[in-house]
Amino acid sequence: MANKTFGLNDSLSSYIQSVSVREPEILAKLREETATFPMSRMQIAPEQGQFMSLLVQLLGAKKTLDIGVFTGYSSLAVALALPEDGKIVACDIDKKSTAIASRYWQEAGVSHKVDLHLAPALETLDKLIATEQTNSFDFAFIDADKRNYDNYYEKCLELLRPGGLIAIDNVLWSGRVADPNDSDKRTIAIREFNHKLHQDSRVNLSLIPIADGLTLALKL
Ligand code: CA
Repeated sequence: MANKTFGLNDSLSSYIQSVSVREPEILAKLREETATFPMSRMQIAPEQGQFMSLLVQLLGAKKTLDIGVFTGYSSLAVALALPEDGKIVACDIDKKSTAIASRYWQEAGVSHKVDLHLAPALETLDKLIATEQTNSFDFAFIDADKRNYDNYYEKCLELLRPGGLIAIDNVLWSGRVADPNDSDKRTIAIREFNHKLHQDSRVNLSLIPIADGLTLALKL
């Protein structure tokens, strides 16, 4: 029996989809609409959205951060899993893609759970820290510009309560992190970030090889 995670071929990948993914209709609709959008590959996979909803439920989360909203798939998946009085602070700078996100939050009946901040995420996070919201968030999803990953991570760590969870997307970067010949600035940033987290005793860690790689860091 294999003791390492094996690569998925197309038929196994479809099989996993067929026996585990239960994508709500509204998320499927959003995925379809986003497919026509430039940069549609920035959207997370349905199995990842479902996994994140499960994490949010396990944590009993009420207060979460979504850094990098795009057209809203991750925030909508999380919002649907949050209780009625749950809140997501959603950070993005793009008016056009977040307009789609807002439309779907509304259609899904969860817009009261989402506070969209159209500003650089680092500014929004600094404001939350300045207004004494440190140690109060249960969950954070980081999926924005890769070169700021470390900055987002440090601020999220301040904002999370002990026992809160940070999920960081694209940590495998299509496999490029393991290619020593790849010296793209974003690849280097993710590689350095992964290395830092491995050494970081403030968190418990697991890198899940789902979609493009999702690291889970539990604040101790
Ligand atoms: Ca992503």
